[in-house]
Amino acid sequence: MIPLPSSPTYLARESDSPATCVAIERRSSVAVLQIANPPVNALDQPTRSALHAALTQIEHDDSVAATVLTGATSFFSGGADLTEFDAGTAFASPSLHRDIHTLLDSMQTPVVAALSGYALGGGLELALACHYRVAEPDALLGLPESTLGFIPGAGGTQRLPRAIGIPRALAAIVSGKRFTASEMADTALIDQLYDTELLDRAVAFAASIASARPIPRLRDRPIDVGWDVDSLDRLAQDLMTSNVNTSRRIAVAAVRAGLTCRTFEEGCASEESLFLSLMSTDEAAAARYRFLSESSVAWPRRFGERARPITRAAVIGAGTMGRGIALSLLSGGLEVAIHDTSVEGLQAGVTAVRDSLERAVRKGTLPRLEGDMRLSRVRAAESLDELAEADMIIEAVFENPEVKQDVFRAIGAIAKPEAVLATNTSTLDIDPIAAASGRPADVVGMHFFSPAQIMRLVEVIPGTDTGEAALATALTLGKRLGKIPVIAGNDDGFIGNRLVDKYLRQALQICVEGAAPWQVDAALQRWGMSMGPFRMMDLVGNDILRQARTASPHRPDIGRDWAIADAVCEQGWFGRKSGKGWYCYGDSATPNTDVTAMVREHAAARSIPAKEWRDDAIVDRCIFALVAEGARALESGVALRGADIDTVFRQGYGFPPAKGGPLFHADLVGLAGTVERMERFRSATNDPFWEPALLLRDLAATSSRISAFTNTDRTNENEDL
Ligand code: NAD
Repeated sequence: MIPLPSSPTYLARESDSPATCVAIERRSSVAVLQIANPPVNALDQPTRSALHAALTQIEHDDSVAATVLTGATSFFSGGADLTEFDAGTAFASPSLHRDIHTLLDSMQTPVVAALSGYALGGGLELALACHYRVAEPDALLGLPESTLGFIPGAGGTQRLPRAIGIPRALAAIVSGKRFTASEMADTALIDQLYDTELLDRAVAFAASIASARPIPRLRDRPIDVGWDVDSLDRLAQDLMTSNVNTSRRIAVAAVRAGLTCRTFEEGCASEESLFLSLMSTDEAAAARYRFLSESSVAWPRRFGERARPITRAAVIGAGTMGRGIALSLLSGGLEVAIHDTSVEGLQAGVTAVRDSLERAVRKGTLPRLEGDMRLSRVRAAESLDELAEADMIIEAVFENPEVKQDVFRAIGAIAKPEAVLATNTSTLDIDPIAAASGRPADVVGMHFFSPAQIMRLVEVIPGTDTGEAALATALTLGKRLGKIPVIAGNDDGFIGNRLVDKYLRQALQICVEGAAPWQVDAALQRWGMSMGPFRMMDLVGNDILRQARTASPHRPDIGRDWAIADAVCEQGWFGRKSGKGWYCYGDSATPNTDVTAMVREHAAARSIPAKEWRDDAIVDRCIFALVAEGARALESGVALRGADIDTVFRQGYGFPPAKGGPLFHADLVGLAGTVERMERFRSATNDPFWEPALLLRDLAATSSRISAFTNTDRTNENEDL
């Protein structure tokens, strides 16, 4: 047997840099294993292999009395590498459960997990299979699998209840929420908490328990006494009142198996078969896809420079968006000055921001201390000159090119040279706005969605002359605010509004072809959209939409498809705010049946016959319009990744998360079938819109997936902005 080294030695992957591995070190009679697989210490196959080899080596070394297992970085492990589930290597030997945990179960010397940062999913399951656990008090622990479409599959549903009892374990497994080590200090999950010097104290702890026998194993503890299947079912019912989905139901079944099975092994076998039954579902694949695409940002390869530091921000325009953006900036720890040309508007805006913070404190959703800090960081700026020291200025004034250019002319002159200037336009060309500032390299689009303090999506739009630093700063700021930044090209409504325009046009055309607006809404809502297209138009405001499409330089063919919507607008039926739109708004929304006669008149004038519409035909026309336009957006580089388009629709437009996104849906249908549908629509409607993009035809011909498509010549993926 080769003796264990006394300084860290890396068990590296064959073809990888030496940084990606498990480090093994010797401190007197204690061996220290450090998982070192950046960025999250994922337990992928090479790391599992290195860990298994290290534990095997320790088991055969008589001079080792105990082992400490920890993360080489400031955290333990983020768990499984989700890409392995789709690549098929997740279960490649050695497996976490069958090999590594089994080895830990049989070891002759104890292994102490030392937890800092986070131990999540497979990372926590690994810690649960160790014999002792010591932790920093604020280490975050959790089994988030149910939020990712699956369940813990390496004994988590069997060991966690034995460690912390059924009620806490069931709540944690069903919700996927994290908890701190200090919250579990009174349970068998945590043996010691150490505020400082975790590794040194873990080594001392390991030496102190090295000779204690029997070596404790959570698997040997009785599952929470006093709990039976009926009481578990009652508790599960309480926990499942909201957000019930398949993985949550199956997670309950797995914990339940711990109570009904005779042995720990049987419980684990049950967990494994439930886990496998879930992994192959479309819902689970969509959940993994969501997680992976939202946790990385694709950005143009030519951009490499890092972000500029931001502590002071300013918002211009204290209306709906300005207020939301200010709240969001405050939540990111920034100082925020708000400016508006209207004195009353400024007062009202700042008061609304303050009221919102006070309300959150009263409701208990914001701790008092944090609320006070945010209140102390917000101020009204009566003159633009007061924004001269801001590191980042975000404009949210009226959607009017002249007004925006005037604002940028003014701030271009007063803002300090290193400030980044962003516009929250939803439709306008960024370039003339940037040019007006006289310093276009500092200007970038940041299209927040409403309400900006809640919606996580922000489209980040580089103009022709946007510099690397401005783009990197906008992306980094987005991340800092807890948002999901998606880069979009400066063209025709960026990604979201460009695609949604085509979706709404189909909804309107379907009505001209015989369906009622509320029938279209009902069909799409039954399919999973959070709101039908006509309800969406009424919410946004039919006048606002008309203003946006007439201001758009990109849409010469507007009249044809939007004529009905224009007619609705001309009646003053702007939507919710005017009490009437496609619906009449009173205590509830009821169909505005006057619209039907207008639509029929319009159809008759164009000799378009009315036909019967089935739900699936309505859904296909609207959703495949998103796919047709999404493919064009990818082909032209407006979107860098298929996954970005899906993120925009899930996060910004109420697309059902369980379906992944329009492009993921097209992949499930099959791209050959998708092309065939579009050709059918084209011959039925004689509308050139349905000509499939060349990219789509190419991907279909090569059996590729459009949701996995990346403009590789244009992008880098960056996870740690
Ligand atoms: P809003 O009408 O609620 O507010 C605009 C504010 O800007 C008003 O308070 C007005 O007094 C102020 N303003 C006008 N000209 C100004 C100037 N020259 N200097 C300083 N302040 C000025 O508008 P909003 O809905 O908040 O929209 C603002 C921007 O955000 C628009 O570009 C809009 O397209 C975009 N946007 C809106 C939404 C939305 O859902 N409302 C969503 C995304 C983006």
